[in-house]
Amino acid sequence: MSDEAAVGRLVSLAGRTALVTGGGGGIGGAVASLFHSAGARVVSADLPGREAGRGIESVACDVGDEAGVRALFEALRAKHERLDIVVHCAGIRRDAVLWKTTREDWAEVLRVNLDSAFLLLRECAPWMREKKDGSIVLVASINGERGKFGQSNYAASKAGLIGLAKTAARELGRFGIRVNVVSPGMIETPMTTTLLEEVKRQAAEESVLGRLGQPEDVARAALFLASPLARHVTGQVLRVDGGQLIA
Ligand code: NAD
Repeated sequence: MSDEAAVGRLVSLAGRTALVTGGGGGIGGAVASLFHSAGARVVSADLPGREAGRGIESVACDVGDEAGVRALFEALRAKHERLDIVVHCAGIRRDAVLWKTTREDWAEVLRVNLDSAFLLLRECAPWMREKKDGSIVLVASINGERGKFGQSNYAASKAGLIGLAKTAARELGRFGIRVNVVSPGMIETPMTTTLLEEVKRQAAEESVLGRLGQPEDVARAALFLASPLARHVTGQVLRVDGGQLIA
């Protein structure tokens, strides 16, 4: 049995249904796979052609599109009796120093990373309220907390996720719905493969554990937050960065 399959057996999500956005990507793929190992029914929402792994239902959806997210939830409601967990991993970056950032790149990053979370929360909250239970995890970034050269749009979108999650936690707590953020440092995924080696080396050096993160590192934290182990945890930002940002 692989390490991740063994971790999946430690924490049971049996009987739970989880929606993972960006399940065809690095972190989303690891989350979907780990939650599946933990016994959850997992649906991945990602762009067309970005299928998640074995045992996971893949639905094509642009999560920044209002009509698309509404259609996604109509389809989910038609097929699934309940929705217990949402992990929002879909995201993009379009890096440039801010004086060279185009209006289009600003808007697109905000749309895909942040508008999407609002649209997802607006759809899933009423459904979770019916069951008086639910856990929502938004994947932000340490760069949303500290800022990052060349990432004004990305950092603003990730900082926005933190404000959104804290507000949603306040509004939804009385309905038994928890909302938390995972804030990763640099993780080895398709999003970071094209970065300069120098940038990756610097990130590994910033980490007090001396290495870059793996998608599974983030998935384990998401599993904790989604599971009953975190039943009294809400409105929190959990960094998964090997100590890249200790503050
Ligand atoms: P990735 O590129 O491997 O995965 C991102 C996924 O999002 C892809 O499958 C992509 O198809 C999907 N996606 C993009 N636009 C979409 C849209 N409009 N609708 C639906 N799906 C869409 O990248 P990753 O590193 O796995 O990133 C996952 C999340 O983690 C992102 O939100 C990213 O910002 C965040 N993050 C990544 C790192 C890192 O170092 N890799 C660090 C901090 C935070």
